[in-house]
Amino acid sequence: SRLLSQDEALRARALKVIPGGMWGHMNVARLPPGYPQFFRSASGCRLRDMAGTEYVDLMCGYGPIVLGYGDPDVEAAATAQRGRGDLMTGPAECQIELAELVVETIPHADWVLFAKNGTDATTACVTIARAGTQRRKVLVAKGSYHGAAPWCTPSLAGVTAEDRAHILHFDYNDVPSLELAADEAGCDLAAVLVTAFKHDVRRHQEAPTPAFTHAVRRICNAAGAALILDDVRAGFRLHTGGSWEPYGVRPDLCAWSKAIANGHPLAAVTGTDRFRDAAQQVYVTGSFWCSAVPMAAAIATIKKLRATGAIATMEAMGHRLRDGLEAQARAHDIRLRQTGPVQMPMIMFEDDPDFVLGYRFVQEALRRGAYMHPWHNMFLCAAHQADDIDRVLEATNEALKQVAALVDRRQSAKAVQ
Ligand code: PMP
Repeated sequence: SRLLSQDEALRARALKVIPGGMWGHMNVARLPPGYPQFFRSASGCRLRDMAGTEYVDLMCGYGPIVLGYGDPDVEAAATAQRGRGDLMTGPAECQIELAELVVETIPHADWVLFAKNGTDATTACVTIARAGTQRRKVLVAKGSYHGAAPWCTPSLAGVTAEDRAHILHFDYNDVPSLELAADEAGCDLAAVLVTAFKHDVRRHQEAPTPAFTHAVRRICNAAGAALILDDVRAGFRLHTGGSWEPYGVRPDLCAWSKAIANGHPLAAVTGTDRFRDAAQQVYVTGSFWCSAVPMAAAIATIKKLRATGAIATMEAMGHRLRDGLEAQARAHDIRLRQTGPVQMPMIMFEDDPDFVLGYRFVQEALRRGAYMHPWHNMFLCAAHQADDIDRVLEATNEALKQVAALVDRRQSAKAVQ
């Protein structure tokens, strides 16, 4: 028998002490064989696995890394704050500096609360909306991910019907279905909760139509309900003021996390004055919610995002990737579909319901040094430079050749039948 690789040895140890070896979205059992589960290090836009193999990372930790791993300005701010104190018996001064910066940066925000995870933020938004309206029903788009709490987790294990008793569904971008759900909620409508765009797993991504964004606002206004924007995934990658700013539609409450502190653990709820009292009444807290280091990191992250045009850089690199892949797909006669904002790309193949082509593509790209995902949107960061994208494109060109060969073999097998 051959020697286990370091990654395999760690997985074997993990299986004994962690259920399934790994929980949640980072379990690579969800990905095709060949993906490393563990990493040794990360810097800029590059990851190194346990064997020392380097990848250009197109996942950025599933979103938190927006400026690059170990960004020197963010880490300098974090280190300076760590020298003064991190978790203390109360918050540090930087909490107020960050709150002022957030309120100044985000147009709808009259106030902000901080937490740790996206789920904390979406759950607090729902609770604040219910407290502020004295109503119960919350409308959520079918298939949208809002976190891992019982009211919203995609797995029904351990969830009771009562946990979701007041959640009603509509189809994203479908105004009549939204109106129908709002009618059903009637005078018990507390909130409509929407993601920044449709970024469900295993589907092509969709921008919200302007008509949809305005309909959400109109329905909330008419009913006196809260428009809650879940900007956990897209926030600070598309627009520093919130992802619906370009639509001219502002939420009453907004959930943030992921990119807010370039990988340091932090989440935020922002809101308007209408919900200030409700936010004060609701009991929201956590042992680690006032840690100062992530807040110092967030100040540095937001300032750098604003000062350096990081979002424009991500867009430029996203276009370079999208255009390059499109040309390659044409050259190899492959029907590839790329959707979503270019800095949050989803790349899937047409006529590939079982992800056979998608899995082959990412496996072949991975072997050549590009870490991609077959069915979750990916994330670019401001540390991706033209050289990195070109390195990814070299990997994808070879990977697409392999996919084209697979398609050919399938077609000739069909012809023989
Ligand atoms: N909302 C959205 C849109 C998300 O993408 C996520 C995380 N993927 C969450 C909420 C939950 O965030 P967290 O995993 O930090 O609890």
